[in-house]
Amino acid sequence: ALLITTKCINCDMCEPECPNQAISLGDAIYEIDVDRCTECVGHYDVPTCQSVCPIDNTIITDPQHPESREALWEKFVVLHP
Ligand code: SF4
Ligand code: SF4
Repeated sequence: ALLITTKCINCDMCEPECPNQAISLGDAIYEIDVDRCTECVGHYDVPTCQSVCPIDNTIITDPQHPESREALWEKFVVLHP
């Protein structure tokens, strides 16, 4: 899964673009639901939230939730039966 860091400026560019509805506004900044983020596997070649975010290096791979491409694909299949 990916992680939104405190560099987020709450611009709301990423939230509507996520194909898994994994992004929402948290208490202070936007957050990614690790159970719904497939790193865009199954939808796009690259994570679309990273592509649309205007601030470089704001959305990063979550060091607490490293996942293989196979695991991300399995998550996609569960989310989109
Ligand atoms: Fe959503 Fe893709 Fe970003 Fe994960 S990487 S939060 S699935 S847009
Ligand atoms: Fe925050 Fe980037 Fe999403 Fe904008 S696009 S809300 S700066 S993470």
